[in-house]
Amino acid sequence: MTKDEALKEVAKRIAECERCKYTPNQNPVPGEGNPDAQIMFVGEAPGAKENETGRPFVGAAGKFLAEMLNSIGLEREDIFIANAIKYQPPGNRDPLPEEIALQLPFLKKQIAIINPKLICFLGRHALHALLSDETRTISELHGKLLEASGQYYLPLYHPAAALYNGSMRQTLLDDFAKIPAYMDQISESKAT
Ligand code: URA
Repeated sequence: MTKDEALKEVAKRIAECERCKYTPNQNPVPGEGNPDAQIMFVGEAPGAKENETGRPFVGAAGKFLAEMLNSIGLEREDIFIANAIKYQPPGNRDPLPEEIALQLPFLKKQIAIINPKLICFLGRHALHALLSDETRTISELHGKLLEASGQYYLPLYHPAAALYNGSMRQTLLDDFAKIPAYMDQISESKAT
């Protein structure tokens, strides 16, 4: 099975997960992008536009994310982008811990298939979903390269939170600008 086929299989299982849906016939937003991506971005949960289209990060936060990718010489097509939660929670509320626990195996499977060099967390929910130490906050960890069990992670502020907050926006841009050097560092560490 190719990576593409394996990712389609995960998307099919997400679409079939009736317990994951908040309303009957709700659109799944499994994630999309390059199956061979070296960098994977993980957000929180789909919003209204994502729910309508079935695609991640297509609203204002997605536009900002695309601009930041361009600023480091990347396109959306180069990366893979997914969310911790695959369906839009009612009224855009935060996902509950049990909802994250139920849906997390899908994200973990996507990560295992893609095998990215770097996983960038967009916001605290993604951080806490995958690195379960709740005592370490996004404000403490943003912009710092982390390593756990051979996988590298970069926590970042969520683009939706940073979009209209001048200082957070600049911090996110500054953290994003570190990605190319971190990728070099990761490649070097894997080569030795
Ligand atoms: N915010 C997220 O966390 N994910 C999306 O897909 C869109 C907005």
